[in-house]
Parts: sequence; structure tokens; C-alpha cells
Amino acid sequence: MIVSIMTPTPLFANDLADVVRIFWGNIECWVNEPGGSVTIVHTEKTEEGVRRCRMEMSGDFSAVRQESRAVSDDPLLEKRYHKRLIKQTLYGVMKQVTGRTPPWGSLTGIRPTRLLYEGMSRGLTLEEAVAETREAFDVREDKADLLREIVQVQQNMPVPDTREADLYVGIPFCVSRCAYCSFLSGEVGKGKQLPPYVEALEKEIAGTLTLMEEKGLRPRAFYMGGGTPTSLSAPMLERVLSAARPFIDRAREVTVEAGRPDTIDQDKLRVIRDHGATRISINPQTMHDETLVRIGRRHTAAQTEAAYALARQAGFTHINMDLIAGLPGENLDMFLQTLAWSRDLRPESLTVHTLSIKRSSLLHLWEAQLPDGHMVERMVDEGRREAARRGMRPYYLYRQKYMAGNLENVGYALPGHECLYNVDMMEEIAHVLAVGAGAISKRVDPAIGRIERAPNVSEIRNYLDRTEEMLARKQALWAQEWPGEPGAQRRE
Ligand code: SF4
Repeated sequence: MIVSIMTPTPLFANDLADVVRIFWGNIECWVNEPGGSVTIVHTEKTEEGVRRCRMEMSGDFSAVRQESRAVSDDPLLEKRYHKRLIKQTLYGVMKQVTGRTPPWGSLTGIRPTRLLYEGMSRGLTLEEAVAETREAFDVREDKADLLREIVQVQQNMPVPDTREADLYVGIPFCVSRCAYCSFLSGEVGKGKQLPPYVEALEKEIAGTLTLMEEKGLRPRAFYMGGGTPTSLSAPMLERVLSAARPFIDRAREVTVEAGRPDTIDQDKLRVIRDHGATRISINPQTMHDETLVRIGRRHTAAQTEAAYALARQAGFTHINMDLIAGLPGENLDMFLQTLAWSRDLRPESLTVHTLSIKRSSLLHLWEAQLPDGHMVERMVDEGRREAARRGMRPYYLYRQKYMAGNLENVGYALPGHECLYNVDMMEEIAHVLAVGAGAISKRVDPAIGRIERAPNVSEIRNYLDRTEEMLARKQALWAQEWPGEPGAQRRE
């Protein structure tokens, strides 16, 4: 199916296409090009300072909405409300056409908790902000409750100090590529790129720590992710973690993603533990070996069990587990089996992802094997119930495009095991100094909603040739004069 969207505001064309995809999945949308199998016609007019928007689909269905406020003089605010109006009008038509009410209503953004914080910054109570979000975006009650719970948990976590920063180290290598992968990760192959990569990281980390010192920034959370950091050998891990040691020793939290169970051994775990990691992540995704083969992960459930046992023996008291709902060939029973199996491994935190299918992914070819949206929704609900039974609370959430059932990814944790770095990333409330290919540094000032980024180049060869420039990009970002500092206002 191809949808033609005829609109006087092509600026918002992608947003309109996102609304269509809430209902019809990852279909093609043309903007101001007739000839699609379905045509949506958008018209609007402004009278006496009030904008009215109309959407019509193939002559049979239409919706009209108007602003509940006068057109604003503030161009940024005006753009935001204009976009919201046309998205919600189209959402109204799509609901009529399909007879469906999606769980997240017309919301297409990555960080829905933002809406609650934004409401609270205008003086609303949490309850009022939840009610406003529900009503404005047609968010279902259970999803609104989830947002409320998350914000309540976050409000009890340490708020970033104005002079704190996170350090992220990216290892963009994996032992094989998962079919659904959307990261820039490459396969380790013969491992020729690893030694120069480690050397480059050592230099970039050293320069970054100097920058932090010059700017008076204190360590907050350390996160080594990827990719799969344990694709590196134990001596290589030792070198990278040693380079970051001055940060790690003063950090509130230290996470190393072990990721693939088949990359973990005693030596690597010892190095990670001896360098102060307080949290590792070992991610089975599913307990079904046939699914693991199908999605290109070359490990088994038995290897996951062995990796958990090794990590416990090595003394790790916080292991996070990632699972995915909606994997090809899986049904609700299989997902329930995975949940029951994971119980015995006793992870202290659990992240339940919903499969997200990108256009470029191989998985695109496998659509026939994918569980339907309703089944995935039941899987996600079961994940939430299971986490609650284990005494875990949801503490961060994000959504992606093209997610099965238009759902969400949720991190759950036992009280006191919430990952600061995950919250910092999702809520964008702390500076992040990021090293490695494809890593993105962020300087933030939540008090005024300012976020600026310094991305590293993502291609590894390029990164090796231009490591000094990556450092210079961070230096330039922090050389800017900013009137404010990242503050504690978000969660007050
Ligand atoms: S482990 Fe993660 S980064 Fe590596 S290929 Fe799989 S999804 Fe991509």
C-alpha cells in the first residue's frame, strides 16, 4: 500500500506519515504526489487567530479540529502546536478508518515521559500532567499509568549535579550481526581492527578526562556499550578500562554491557569486576535456540545460563537482562517460557524490548513470521506483570519507529538497581562525554531545554584516522559560553 499525503505544510510531512504508520505499519508515504492507493487531503485555514485543520481520506472519512488557543507569536511554540494539531486531526481520521485505538494514541515521539515533565514544569501536579497527556493524545489508561510509575521512580533517583557528566565508551563490534540490528556495529571478523581501535580509545579517553578536569566536571555514570564490549579480549578490556579508571573510581555507577553470552569468559569478567563495574548486562533476548539462529545470534540459551553462573561466581550482584517481545516465529507461549526461564537466572533488572523493524534490516524479508501486534501487546503486558511479580518497578521507557504493535521498550529494576545512565540518556538531563566510533557527546541544560551534540564519525577506519578531531569536537562543544548549567529542575 502507498499513501499519498496532500498537504499545504510539507514541513510536517514526516510527522503525518508517522501517524499513518501507527495504524498501518511501515508503509510507503508520498508527499504531495498523487497516485497512491489511498489519498489523504489536508486543508487548513486561520480565522480570527484560530487555526482549523481538516483531513479527508478518499472522500469517505474526514475529521476537523481547531486549536484550543490563539495562534502564538512565539515561533517555536507555534510550530509545536501547529504540528500537534495536524497530527491529531489525521489521527482522528485514521481511527475512523481503521476502527482501532492504538495504545499510545497519537504519540509518535521517542520519550513520552517528557510530556509529564513538561506539564509539571508549567505547574501541573503529576496527576494533572498524566491526565492532560491522556486526553491530549488519546493515550490508553494502562500506558498513562506506566508513565506515571516511571516518573515516580525517577523522582527518587539522584538528579544530576550541575557539574556532573557521564562517560560513554562505544565498542562497535559484535561476533555476528543480529538480523534486527539498527546500530552501526560491525562484525569482529578476524579482529584486525581491534588493536588500533583500542589504541585510539585510550587516546580519546585520556583527552576527554583532561577536558573534564579543565571544565570542572565530575564523574557521574560510566557506561561501556556497543556493539558488544566483550568482543574485546580480556587484555584489551583491561587497557580500555584502565584508561577510564580515573573516571570509574569516582563514578556513582559503572556499567559494562557484556551483551552476547558467547563472548563472556572468566578472564573478561575478572577484568570488568576488578575495574569497578557495579552493573553488567547479559542479554539472551529469548530462551529459544531456534529463534536465536533465525535472528543471527550465534549463542544458545545454555550459554546464557553458563554466563550468568560465571558472572555470579565472579561476584556480580547486579546483572541486567534484555528480552525482546515479537521475535519472528515466536508466539505468546514461547515468550512466557522465556519469562519463566529468565526467573531462575534472577537478574536484578530486566529490559523488555519490543521488536523494531527498520527498513534496512534483513528482518524486513521475514514479515510473514512475525507475531501480530495484538500478540506482541500481550507479550509486553506479560513482561510488565512478570517484572511486578519479581518486585521490579519500571524506571525508564522509550519508543522507536516501526515497533511491533506500536508499543514500547521498558526498563524494570528492583528498588535501588535503576541505572542512572539509562535515565540520563532517555530524559536528557546530564552531560554525556562519549568516545569511540559513532558515539555522540551531549551537552545539556534542562533548565532551558538546550541540548547540543558533538557526534563522532561512525565508520571505524574514519574514526581511527580522525581520533584527534573527535576530541576537538568535544572541546569545541564545551568551549561555548552557556548562560546556565544543567540543573536539578527536571525532577523537582
Ligand atoms: S548485539 Fe546488539 S549491536 Fe550487536 S549486532 Fe546484535 S543488536 Fe546489533
